[in-house]
Amino acid sequence: MPNPKHKTTKSKVGMRRSHHHTSTILGAKCENCGELKQAHTVCPSCGTYKGRKVLAETKEV
Ligand SMILES: [Zn+2]
Repeated sequence: MPNPKHKTTKSKVGMRRSHHHTSTILGAKCENCGELKQAHTVCPSCGTYKGRKVLAETKEV
């Protein structure tokens, strides 16, 4: 059976996995207010999704 000749070192594993991190989740701009928000989610600042009001507006003084 073909097998790797040498064990992959922790160093090599670390080097390979250095690219596994994810970038920021804020990937989209809100169409309504222009705020940066997570893609395919309701905007947390104005509560709209695809131009439609989804969240009930909080009463501000
Ligand atoms: Zn918004």
